[in-house]
Amino acid sequence: MFRWLRRPISSEIKGKLESVLQSQYWTEEEIRKYQWTKLQELVRHAFQCVPYYRNLFNSIGATPDEIKNFEDFSRVPVLTKSDIQNSLETLTTTGIDRQRLSLNSTGGSTGMPLNFYQDVNYKHWSDAARIRAWRHVVGADENDLEAVLWGATKDIGQGLSFRKVLYSVLREGLLPLNTFDLDDSLLKKYLSYFNIIKPKILRGYASSLYYVALYVEKRALPIHRPKSIISSTEVLHARMRETIERVFGCPVFDSYGCREVSQIATECEAHNGLHVVFENQYVELDGQDIIVTNLHNYAMPFIRYKVGDLASSLDTSPCKCGRVSPRIVSLIGRDNDNIELPSGKVINGEFFEFLFFGLSSVIQYQVVYHKAIDRLRVKLHVSGSTENAGEIVQKTMREKFDYENVDVLYSDQFDMTPSGKLRFVYQVD
Ligand SMILES: [Zn+2]
Repeated sequence: MFRWLRRPISSEIKGKLESVLQSQYWTEEEIRKYQWTKLQELVRHAFQCVPYYRNLFNSIGATPDEIKNFEDFSRVPVLTKSDIQNSLETLTTTGIDRQRLSLNSTGGSTGMPLNFYQDVNYKHWSDAARIRAWRHVVGADENDLEAVLWGATKDIGQGLSFRKVLYSVLREGLLPLNTFDLDDSLLKKYLSYFNIIKPKILRGYASSLYYVALYVEKRALPIHRPKSIISSTEVLHARMRETIERVFGCPVFDSYGCREVSQIATECEAHNGLHVVFENQYVELDGQDIIVTNLHNYAMPFIRYKVGDLASSLDTSPCKCGRVSPRIVSLIGRDNDNIELPSGKVINGEFFEFLFFGLSSVIQYQVVYHKAIDRLRVKLHVSGSTENAGEIVQKTMREKFDYENVDVLYSDQFDMTPSGKLRFVYQVD
């Protein structure tokens, strides 16, 4: 319906999409050959054109020619989030026209805000892989309608006016809901649109999908059954998957990625771990630490980037789906709870990531909601700066959520959850 109104995908993305639809069935040998060629090209570029890497290779006394195989490559020191925080300039390719780059940023799942450049070629490859994983693999195509439960206001904007919904559905093929502002009346309205428009795909943060599934189930609401659901950004626990599949009556496909490098691994129709997007990423495990090298971003190469997430193993046995690309098994980490205020307002944990990455003085944060005493405790580790991050948090909570009980503490010591994990947004009873 009205497909001619839809924003078309560019010929560059289309070409790369055709390519990744073919390469997903490559043999192990073809994959390794492709990745090795790409890694060599990237390392050479980094050594020649990126000051950070020239210094790094000089400091370890190595040249790109001495990196002769994957094993040699695995000895290149990892790139950490604090390296990126400290080296925006030197990590950028010398002499590149910055007007032509996107400056992207994230609060990061570890609560450490980052800025970084990405080039057009990188974006096209990322888009192609995304369309493959979120459309073709899940039984849809790029023309099908998609409902999105997302929190990034810079990606989808706020509110849910009829005009906005109409524009978004006709032009983008999307029915978006901003989960930073989830409340009862907004959710009811959204679900009524959802039932009328009947999107083929539903995609969202794991915690948002889970929350909506519980909401529908608790009230025994009638709900449209999409073809597939895509969960991303947060860990999809087994109980969440089971509830979402039961309520919506369709399979869930998990997806793992981050803004720094885009999609890293995505689930196939065999639901047997997450296949590495090998066309775009070279993934290693250092113990349980996920280490990613993006193969396309020549504006600011991330070589052996320690994402900050953990996985129990990388399975290289062939999958039932016919693909042989390695699979990430059991992601650990990346947990953000929804915080449920007494007013009924629900704040997605990622809201705070977006709040804090706008505050340059914040090095790290932790937000804990103590339900029993109804207090939100915000711990901030800040660098010397004129802005008062604590007051900004209190003001934002007051204005956005009409919520006053915010305690701010400046510290670089962070609390563990009751289960002993270090997390940056969570709720305790
Ligand atoms: Zn598979």
